[in-house]
Amino acid sequence: MNLIQIKAIDSSISGSTLSFRPRLPFWFKVDAKTGPDYLEIKQTVDRLNLHTICEEARCPNRWECWNARTATFLILGDICTRRCHYCSVETGRPLEVDQEEPRRVAEAVKALGLRHAVITSVNRDELADGGAAMFADTIRQIKRLSPGCSVEVLIPDFEGGEMPLRTVCAERPEILNHNIETVQRLFPAIRPQGKYQRSIQLLKKAKELGMTTKSGLILGMGERLDEARDVMRDLRAVDCDILTIGQYLQPTREHLPVLRFYDPVEFGNLQAEGLALGFRHVESGPLVRSSYHAARQTGKFV
Ligand code: SF4
Repeated sequence: MNLIQIKAIDSSISGSTLSFRPRLPFWFKVDAKTGPDYLEIKQTVDRLNLHTICEEARCPNRWECWNARTATFLILGDICTRRCHYCSVETGRPLEVDQEEPRRVAEAVKALGLRHAVITSVNRDELADGGAAMFADTIRQIKRLSPGCSVEVLIPDFEGGEMPLRTVCAERPEILNHNIETVQRLFPAIRPQGKYQRSIQLLKKAKELGMTTKSGLILGMGERLDEARDVMRDLRAVDCDILTIGQYLQPTREHLPVLRFYDPVEFGNLQAEGLALGFRHVESGPLVRSSYHAARQTGKFV
């Protein structure tokens, strides 16, 4: 995405120097150490021919999370049918659905002894159910092989389809996550195939189906703080339980540049505001990602 397109996203941002990648503030320093737990996750994922969003999204927490034996599995392949301008997952025509993938994910969860498993997927808009049956099968197989393990699913919007959502919820995952990602005004530019209200309605429906619901917001893509607060209020209006708020980092030069860095104090303030709005748990910080410290949100500490 070039400079002109970025200015079209938010013409109120003037004088920004967008043609180079700004130096990261000091609070983004991470300890990129690969200990035995990190290596075990890497070997297990490779051995079972699985994908993780930790790697596909170049998550800055992968050393911390993997060293703490937490990872987020990416199902339905690693090619997405949508093109969101902040996301580093490859866009294109996906491969055939691998019906054995749920079993292999469940095997990995068992082999790693996870107490909380997070499952997400690429968008598969070409499938009639958007991949819902594969989510359902993955939850079932994890619960069969690892009965004590809680499951969190981070699902796409299924293009607003109610049946796919019901298919996933019928397996009773402990947490149903759907990320709103950005503010309503920026959806057409940043998530051109998504719809703000469609995502809000999905979370509303999931709540009506008895789910503990969760959503996430990425800051730094051109939003204003008052708009971010509107999102928080909209999420609470549909009784969303858990919120994550993190800083956008540009994955490559081809992606949307960072338009603002928020400092840790600002993230702390947003956390306090979220709790005051009634979220049960708010994880907010520069390095927070949707699945960061996810086990804590179940009341488990792993
Ligand atoms: S925050 Fe989530 S995506 Fe990032 S490394 Fe941790 S588990 Fe993986």
